[in-house]
Amino acid sequence: MREEKVWELTVIGGGASGMSAAISYQKCLSRNGEKKASVLILEKNDRVGKKVLATGNGRCNLSNRDMAMEHFHSHQEEFPERVLSLIPQKETLAFLGELGILTVNEGNKLFPMSKNAASVVDAFRFALETDQITVETSSVVEEVRRVDAVGQKKLFRLTLQDGTKIFSHALIVACGGACAPSLGTTGDGYKILSSLGHKVYAPKPSIVQITTDSAVPRALSGMRMDCDLSLLCSGEVVARQFGEVLFADYGLSGPAVFQVSGEVSRRIRKGKLSAPMQVSLCLFDDETCLTLKEELSSRRKTFSDRPLEQLLLSVLPMKIGNMILKTALNRPLSLPISSLSDKDIDQIIYTMTHWVFPVSGTRSLEYAQTTIGGASCEEFSSDTMESKLVPDLYACGEVLDVDGDCGGYNLQWAFSSGILAGRSAAERFQEDDDAN
Ligand SMILES: Cc1cc2nc3c(=O)[nH]c(=O)nc-3n(C[C@H](O)[C@H](O)[C@H](O)COP(=O)(O)OP(=O)(O)OC[C@H]3O[C@@H](n4cnc5c(N)ncnc54)[C@H](O)[C@@H]3O)c2cc1C
Repeated sequence: MREEKVWELTVIGGGASGMSAAISYQKCLSRNGEKKASVLILEKNDRVGKKVLATGNGRCNLSNRDMAMEHFHSHQEEFPERVLSLIPQKETLAFLGELGILTVNEGNKLFPMSKNAASVVDAFRFALETDQITVETSSVVEEVRRVDAVGQKKLFRLTLQDGTKIFSHALIVACGGACAPSLGTTGDGYKILSSLGHKVYAPKPSIVQITTDSAVPRALSGMRMDCDLSLLCSGEVVARQFGEVLFADYGLSGPAVFQVSGEVSRRIRKGKLSAPMQVSLCLFDDETCLTLKEELSSRRKTFSDRPLEQLLLSVLPMKIGNMILKTALNRPLSLPISSLSDKDIDQIIYTMTHWVFPVSGTRSLEYAQTTIGGASCEEFSSDTMESKLVPDLYACGEVLDVDGDCGGYNLQWAFSSGILAGRSAAERFQEDDDAN
């Protein structure tokens, strides 16, 4: 790469939002009858789209049919709302369709027809080639400066880790957040944007496991159950989710836990929960509980001589059943089932519907699927994704202070914000071109 070349557009980050932005830029120029511009993507990893490959357990859950705004979070809630109204799901699906990515739904979740994340990355790679976008992999941007250029508008000067300098008229920062650092996202975008004057909210993990000081999950490590999960803060239910819960050495995992984990993260200040929190698991609905109450009363007679540890036979996996009994009864399970009182049976049913775990926090960003916080949206235009502080600077995707729930909302945000940033940068390029 020669030092003196000035790119029309440089995108830092070859993830979902950065690739969408670069392609959208070229497509916008072509649509308006312009020839393609010189566009460069700088990607830290040895290939683009490494994180996309990891999404949806390799199946890439890329959006959701339920696009209610409650699934997106930001200190400026109106920001994602506006962006998603300008580039709604319909438009992102049309954009993906143009790249050859067809979608199917599984419940509300949208996936590529192939149910294969690698095919999504391939479609993006082929489109980058078609749209003559230069991709430099293994290129780590360390510093960005705004510099004067003789007889021209100011330029961006990017310095790579190996000392290479790159000059560009416009810049899109699409470096992602700070979660899953093994996939390249180590919060570099925050450093770059704050060095250009932007405010950054401290990153916190979301879609992540919840930790607890209780020894119970460790004892049940590896076991899973479908539950109705309630997250309580000072005794009040602040989130509820039905789904699978997985017990692990550190606490609780699984889709239902991921979905409410952001609520825990948001309540952690200076490493501590701002108020006591608990996860309460309900294993059975009211109707099943009535049947179970009758069944347990009847087992008191039919299984009278058997030990208590056989009471919940086939009601729950043995290990989980015994843990429920220990919690509910607090006495040796070697005692006979005939020793149960009516009150004991009520207590067992109560424990199965209110199985409470004190929350100590969440696992770290390393284990999270998305980042809460990031560059403040207040300093970007929700109409264009352009910085209000630095002209020709744009940001999109997870680097911004927007996070979505589990279920395809983060990729939807990456696509919508990337498409808008690319389109706006192209329109600005044309305006400048027309003016000269
Ligand atoms: C395991 C896992 C599973 C997930 N599953 C889903 C899912 O099923 N559905 C969903 O919607 N979301 C999912 N997500 C979240 C989703 O992948 C991200 O929110 C989304 O990819 C963000 O896109 P982005 O372009 O903003 O950032 P990224 O895709 O993270 O891309 C940023 C890119 O910038 C590069 N970069 C960073 N710093 C530099 C630098 N200094 N110089 C050059 N390049 C740099 C990185 O290497 C990276 O490739 C998942 C995340 C993880 C970790």
